[in-house]
Amino acid sequence: MPSVCFKALCVALLSAQLPLAVLLAGSASSQQLSSSGRWRLGVFPVASFVRFTSHYGSRIGPSGSVEPHDGLDIAAPLGSAIHSWWGGVVQELITDGSCGVGLVIRSGSYEHVYCHLAGSTWGGTYRSGPVSLSQGQAVATGQLIGHVGLSGRTSGPHLHWGVRYRGQWLDPARVLRAMVASRGTSKRQPAPRVGGI
Ligand SMILES: [Zn+2]
Repeated sequence: MPSVCFKALCVALLSAQLPLAVLLAGSASSQQLSSSGRWRLGVFPVASFVRFTSHYGSRIGPSGSVEPHDGLDIAAPLGSAIHSWWGGVVQELITDGSCGVGLVIRSGSYEHVYCHLAGSTWGGTYRSGPVSLSQGQAVATGQLIGHVGLSGRTSGPHLHWGVRYRGQWLDPARVLRAMVASRGTSKRQPAPRVGGI
């Protein structure tokens, strides 16, 4: 269940809109990502946020047993636009029973994963409405990369968003907090260390 803290975080994020020119500033190098001040350039991946429905870490799965959850579940209406958190390159197209239709985008030492998308990956290309992405294709920060769907193991429309740093899963909520902190919404607190930064 989402906490009050999560809701406050979301309000802060949604109120911290960046100019389009900044959102579309292009791909970021790993050197850029290593500078904590650059976190403000990251984009919250779901335009029509409803609530956080499952946090990163352990949780009770459908079978009733404890299982790891390597991402953050962000509920949004079916068909909601999904934007790339950071500029990078499409590393992998996913089609399986868990993630469903998904994308992995690499940005330097980071990989960001988007699951339960609408659309399909037929013929080695992910397509959803006007979106058409293939492996190796460059995407800009904030670029439309897909839409919220119901593919894979999901009980309702949401984006499962995962972030890996050098192969290790991060709590995406920490990334979001770093983004908020770097935008000056809490100047007395330094941006938290994320992924070794
Ligand atoms: Zn999830």
